Amino acid sequence: MRHGGKRMPRRFKQFILTLAGNRILQRKNGAMVLYYHGVAERVFDPVVQALHMPVNEFEEQIQYFHKHHTIISMDEFCEALQKRRLHSSQVVLTFDDGFKNNLTVVAPLLRSYGLPFTVFISTEQVENGWRYPGYQMRASIWCTEMDTLTIPSLNLQLHIPTSEERLMAIELIGDKMRDLSEMKLKVVLAELRAHIPDSRWSELNEMFSTDAVMTWDDVRALHAQGVTIGSHCHSHAILHKLQDRQEIRRQIETSKRLIVEHVGECRYFSYPHGTKRDISKTAYELVKATYQLGFSTVNAPVDNFADPHLIPRVGTPSELGRLRGAMVSCRLGGGNYRKWAKQMVLQSG
Ligand SMILES: [Zn+2]
Repeated sequence: MRHGGKRMPRRFKQFILTLAGNRILQRKNGAMVLYYHGVAERVFDPVVQALHMPVNEFEEQIQYFHKHHTIISMDEFCEALQKRRLHSSQVVLTFDDGFKNNLTVVAPLLRSYGLPFTVFISTEQVENGWRYPGYQMRASIWCTEMDTLTIPSLNLQLHIPTSEERLMAIELIGDKMRDLSEMKLKVVLAELRAHIPDSRWSELNEMFSTDAVMTWDDVRALHAQGVTIGSHCHSHAILHKLQDRQEIRRQIETSKRLIVEHVGECRYFSYPHGTKRDISKTAYELVKATYQLGFSTVNAPVDNFADPHLIPRVGTPSELGRLRGAMVSCRLGGGNYRKWAKQMVLQSG
């Protein structure tokens, strides 16, 4: 190989190749940040309780990671990323939304194994005890006794007599909800909820207690046990590019302020929904200015060169076999993540 008219010294060439090789290896072999939502004693309706995993399957996963990996805390992860000391045996456990079962089911189980975890909460839900938009939407459509779903603000009327049609409606409306402003989302949710009488709502909420959200007392109790508490926006707003800048700022800053007030610190953030489509340039910049780390749901291992404010995570199907498969396939797809993270940095200049 010619270099500046002279042959590159063999040793130097070897050094460069080793450096490049190490970098490729480190990228393929990064740590894994997993994201869960809830874990329940019983999941009897997988449509409405879509975000919850049965406790026996969760424990099977934990036993597997406990045996084959090193589960590290969020602070350890943050330090390892800064010092470029992440490696493939490390796993971080995170939970989005802040369901009550994180305190009642997850915490005792993980404590019995001596394992750390992190919960990202949406503070408006914690303040008011409101259920998440996704639950309200799924329960409205799945449990209504009406055969027609009418959502005037979306100019939508759907005939939903069968389960198949209801599932399709849940997918369609869930997708539409992801691009709404916070104001419009509130209108759509009110129109959806109107498909079920108020008295029935209290029965449903009791039946689906899995979807109850923690109170501040619960959050403080979790924090007192050593669980890391992070932010998941104020009202779980999806920070897409059509969302108003002031609203994005309010979401990112209010939740941090409230969490600091209640538990004393808040250094980490996870973007609601968190795919590429759900993270605008503005959101990325504001998260960068406010938090030490920001977590997406883009699937990839976290190598030592990952953007601290666009950290990839891996979703967790209930069956261990499928989760292991997802972890293997995400190691192969890291290129997509890097391209996206690079573009985001370039765009925000
Ligand atoms: Zn969420």
